Amino acid sequence: MTPTTQQTRPVCLSDLTQDRLAEYIASLGQPAFRAKQIYKWLHQKLVTDFSAMTDQPKALIEQLQQTCTIASPSIRRKQCSQDGTVKYLLQLADGNCIETVLMRYHYGNSVCVSTQVGCAMGCRFCASTQAGRVRDLTAGEIASEIYTVQRDTGERVSHIVLMGIGEPLHNFNNVMDFLEIISSPGGLNIGMRNISLSTCGLVPKIDELAKRKLQLTLSISLHAPNNKMRSSMMPVNDAYPLEQLIPACRRYQQATGRRISFEYSMVRGVNDSPETARELARLIRGMGAHVNLIPINPVDGSPYSATDDKNIRRFRDLLEQLGVNATVRRRLGADISAACGQLRREDARQSSAMERNDPT
Ligand code: SAH
Repeated sequence: MTPTTQQTRPVCLSDLTQDRLAEYIASLGQPAFRAKQIYKWLHQKLVTDFSAMTDQPKALIEQLQQTCTIASPSIRRKQCSQDGTVKYLLQLADGNCIETVLMRYHYGNSVCVSTQVGCAMGCRFCASTQAGRVRDLTAGEIASEIYTVQRDTGERVSHIVLMGIGEPLHNFNNVMDFLEIISSPGGLNIGMRNISLSTCGLVPKIDELAKRKLQLTLSISLHAPNNKMRSSMMPVNDAYPLEQLIPACRRYQQATGRRISFEYSMVRGVNDSPETARELARLIRGMGAHVNLIPINPVDGSPYSATDDKNIRRFRDLLEQLGVNATVRRRLGADISAACGQLRREDARQSSAMERNDPT
């Protein structure tokens, strides 16, 4: 990480945790307090330009401008829903686009962040994965999603959900660095209890996460109570079937003392029958876990359609009768391209149509 004059790739300072930034700034021959100040500029005052770091010596600012960068995506598109939800299509420095969503709740503002460009998991109902995974986001890029929303709205973000494009546990190290940065007192200081991480169920990574004993909420995208049904919706179930996933969830709860929640997107005629509710109750009863029910958001090219509200409520009532906590999740931003990955795909389609129509 020692900078040299031949260095071709600039160091993105936003990616560095506080300790690593301290090492880097020390390697430039600067005193330790400079690293602390710079960390605050990046992660608390949210500047996107070194020249805004007004307490830094001019020579250091010039050196940083030549050898380092700050992650600062541009807002390519923005859709505002009547319920206050705002969906952003953000363009990264290399031209790739990701989605970030601001949701306004009575308890505060929550931002749903992407963790990868695209996704490799292949869930059949999900728009994010249709063109595969392009690359992982860096820790600084993930944090910059939140910073961009805060700068754009002028409002504080108090909660984060890792439920946007990508599989967070498939980008484990960068996501762990992001969590350290975003929860650090020198940064936005967002408490782990205000952070939820959602996974399709990468069992070895769930165990690795459990070892860190973070106080975040782990959500498992379950969507089905048996392997046949789950594999038909989620290919990851072939690698980590329910007889591995559910014990991993139990181990996670034991190790962290935190209850997990299960996401359950309801698809008409596939996973929404009373028999399926009973099977689900048998699978997870006694875990103290919570089930979030949500109607599937049908995406182009997917054979699935949503269960209607009445049947979702019936499914919830049955779960409750069988001793499983369940809520029907309010759908925010239903009037904008709400399901994750839809806006990015729409934009990619429009751009390629524009290129095709471009006479030059
Ligand atoms: N990869 C992670 C997080 C991203 S997806 C995961 O799988 O959990 C966030 C949640 O939205 C997951 O529960 C996912 O299964 C669900 N989801 C994706 N596409 C959806 C759609 N079209 N309708 C309803 N839920 C969807």
